Amino acid sequence: MEPQRSPLLEVKGNVELKRPLAKAASRLPLSGRRLKRGPDQMEEALEPEKKRTRGLGTRVTTTHPRAAALSSAPQTQGQTAVPKAPRKPAPRCSTAVAPVLKTQKPGPVVPVQKPGTTAAPPMVGGKKPKRPAWDLKGQLCDLNAELKCYRERKQVLDQENQQLRDQLQEAQQQALALGAERKTLEEELTRVRAQAEQGQRELGNLSARVLELEERLGTQEGLVQELQKEQLRLQEERRGLAARLGEQERRLQTSEASLSDSQEEVASLRQEAAAREAILAEREDRLHGLEMERRRLHNQLQELKGNIRVFCRVRPVLPGESTPSPGFLQFPSGPCGPSDPPTRLSLSRSDERRGTLSGAPAGPTRHEFSFDRVFPPGSGQDEVFEEISMLVQSALDGYPVCIFAYGQTGSGKTFTMEGGPGGDPQMEGLIPRALRHLFSVAQELSGQGWTYSFVASYVEIYNETVRDLLATGTRKGQGGECEIRRAGPGSEELTVTNARYVPVSCEREVEALLHLARQNRAVARTAQNERSSRSHSVFQLQISGEHASRGLQCAAPLSLVDLAGSERLDPGLALGPGERERLRETQAINSSLSTLGLVIMALSNKESHVPYRNSKLTYLLQNSLGGSAKMLMFVNISPLEENVSESLNSLRFASKVRSLAAPSPSGFLLTVDFCTLVLGASGTCILKGCTFARHLTIDFWGGCELRF
Ligand code: ADP
Ligand code: MG
Repeated sequence: MEPQRSPLLEVKGNVELKRPLAKAASRLPLSGRRLKRGPDQMEEALEPEKKRTRGLGTRVTTTHPRAAALSSAPQTQGQTAVPKAPRKPAPRCSTAVAPVLKTQKPGPVVPVQKPGTTAAPPMVGGKKPKRPAWDLKGQLCDLNAELKCYRERKQVLDQENQQLRDQLQEAQQQALALGAERKTLEEELTRVRAQAEQGQRELGNLSARVLELEERLGTQEGLVQELQKEQLRLQEERRGLAARLGEQERRLQTSEASLSDSQEEVASLRQEAAAREAILAEREDRLHGLEMERRRLHNQLQELKGNIRVFCRVRPVLPGESTPSPGFLQFPSGPCGPSDPPTRLSLSRSDERRGTLSGAPAGPTRHEFSFDRVFPPGSGQDEVFEEISMLVQSALDGYPVCIFAYGQTGSGKTFTMEGGPGGDPQMEGLIPRALRHLFSVAQELSGQGWTYSFVASYVEIYNETVRDLLATGTRKGQGGECEIRRAGPGSEELTVTNARYVPVSCEREVEALLHLARQNRAVARTAQNERSSRSHSVFQLQISGEHASRGLQCAAPLSLVDLAGSERLDPGLALGPGERERLRETQAINSSLSTLGLVIMALSNKESHVPYRNSKLTYLLQNSLGGSAKMLMFVNISPLEENVSESLNSLRFASKVRSLAAPSPSGFLLTVDFCTLVLGASGTCILKGCTFARHLTIDFWGGCELRF
């Protein structure tokens, strides 16, 4: 393809071809031909003019007529103004005329016949015959003829002279005009030369520019070649792309076809999805209704089971402990036989001090207790938790739940609540299991739109002082005092000042908290001599649930309490300073445990005043007790015979609590060491087997011992 020639190339071509540059038209009255000439040519053109001008002294004719007249002058001088006469042999003229006719060939002398003489001799050989000397007349005649001829000739020459003078004058005028013209031309020439120089300079510049442009042109041409190559490559690529595009278009068409199919499918699927969503929404509504119904029924079931329940757990005999005599502890099966979970426990006790009314020695006495559930020594942690998992569910449903572990030191309270040592998952206690259960159920409920959050605290109450078991840093193990306060004025919520409230969301966080609590207790133990067994440990989890789309909220505390050892001091012991301290601790423990019993009783009897404030324990737990709260008490029992007295005390306390939950129509069933009394509403005591009418003052919560 021939690229279009640029103006730049045009200039170059002009230069190459040495074309004359266009010049401005001269103002001189030169002919067109002369204008087209260059300066040299102008010079040449001017030369003949000059020559002619220079030659004006002798020949003053520049115009054609003059030239014509003068051109023949050498030959025809003397004939210019005179009509050409037939050439006659000129008469011999005098020498005065000769200078005028200097250039004229002397014509033949016409012989003059002497008048009256003989006629002129005839011409011999073309020459006039010479008159004889005697022919004077003839000679005179010839001279007259010659004179006449010269006169005529003079007249002609005068005329010619006059004519030449006129011509000279005219030539001078023309010379003046030509001089002016020459001057003008010289000026014009100077100007033209200047222009030519300017033109030369411009030409030089232009040549440099042309060179530069040629260079650039070379570069541009290189570029053009590259671009052409690139163009070829791009054209190739374009062809490839066009082919691909065609392929893609075909595919697109196919895709569009399948897309429209898919769109139809999507539309139908959307309709289906909308229908399913409607069904889903309806099902969600139903599910929510069912969930609320489940909660209501679950609560009813728990209430039917009793808002206050008591479980008894007997720990196994530990290695190194003396095995109790066979039959010391028995677990009679329920009404449906051994398949029934045991709910009863009987314990035998032989006491020399006891006697019969007849005075005969009494055999071992069996004490029977009935609870909501009894766990024999072989019961695993999982079995125990299964029984309380329903209660934990109640906490998620928004009902306060409180679980106590009651019993003498070493009976397995901490084992039940926190678990055994060594981190064995099988040995995990109620706290980790309950929290894991809560997290997993909360996760399930999140599918129904419920969001739960959990905040844990762990404190211990020793000698009516509260200490944070989750303290860290400098406060760790120091037992900085905490106070139980209402969260705000008019608020029912209680908080422990200076205690940490830690949000938890997974098991690992709970494990870390329990580990920290154990560390804090260990520090305190070394400092204050097994203080942990004589303090109440209260693990509380504040559960908050929200169903944002339905605007529902629920919140309840779950309290898991490892109570202080319920054992009593031996009254026979001498009271040294250490023992006095123990006595003070024991009194504090007994007082708080009695207060717990009284609070439970007041709640059970729906009394207007509930003595929560009588102990730090009940004050702290007041939101977890009463109303719709669910309470479960584990009474932990040692399997050892040597602990029988404390075991009986614990069992009596637990029985009392249970009796509050499900009062007997005839009154409280009170089991004492050696006989069973039915305490009637009237306050009469009926001795089983015989009528025994007597008013008794009984230390009810501390257990009673009726001696004879
Ligand atoms: P408490 O807290 O009532 O003082 P612990 O829970 O510390 O009693 O238990 C005392 C000992 O008995 C611990 O060594 C504990 O591991 C063990 N123990 C308690 N209950 C059980 C049980 N059900 N199975 C196995 N060992 C138990
Ligand atoms: Mg303990």
